[in-house]
Amino acid sequence: MWLDFCIRLDGPKEKTGYPGVVSRTLGEIEGEVDHSTEGPLDAALGELQKLERMASWTFTVPKAGPPLQHYPLTAITWHCGLPGDRRTDTSLVGNLTLVGIEHVDWPDNTLSDSQLYWSVEITRALRQMCPRIGARPPTLRGNLFEHNWLSPTSCPSGLILWAKKLAALEEDMGIEFSSAVNFGNEGPGLPKEAVALADLLARYRRDIYAIRADVAALRTLGGSGPLVAKFPGATVQVVPPMDVPVEEA
Ligand SMILES: [Zn+2]
Repeated sequence: MWLDFCIRLDGPKEKTGYPGVVSRTLGEIEGEVDHSTEGPLDAALGELQKLERMASWTFTVPKAGPPLQHYPLTAITWHCGLPGDRRTDTSLVGNLTLVGIEHVDWPDNTLSDSQLYWSVEITRALRQMCPRIGARPPTLRGNLFEHNWLSPTSCPSGLILWAKKLAALEEDMGIEFSSAVNFGNEGPGLPKEAVALADLLARYRRDIYAIRADVAALRTLGGSGPLVAKFPGATVQVVPPMDVPVEEA
């Protein structure tokens, strides 16, 4: 729950969870939200320690050097949306299921090579440790978000270099997961693209099975009608990811 390449710098424990939901399991984590600090590192860390400020997050990636980790992955931090907008489904669910990563943008609002490197390393670690993230390819708005896609904010103001980050993550899919794909006779000569495609298909299938199990479980609970999940303070309609066809069992 603490990544070994990060420097541990604890945030206040009071700034986690919600009434009735103190923490989450790794299996409940579905992705990450990339943020910008909108200020220097020391200012961001100061805000993290302030109990009266309703904001907390798991990682801070400084301009240079390894990331800081403030909470275990299982802690629910308050990084999506704005104070008081817990009525907004995306913000609430975002905090429950997504990991918040702050990137220091000050003073030039650019992501340094070091930050890109460590940001990708964090995502790689999340993909390995959180089965729901690893079950799908790296996907914008699927398991990779930026703050302003979830709630009205200027954060992260174009800071995140998604094309470069995705390229690094997708390269992993061609290499790192190739051994998991069993074609029978094919050996290492198999084109990288074919391996990546096969792996992608395999993972979507797993994901579909997972969704079908969730749907079945919800059906037994709630009978017919729209599928809803109840979180404290919000009732959320459950919709499968748009790009995954779900067949009725
Ligand atoms: Zn943000």
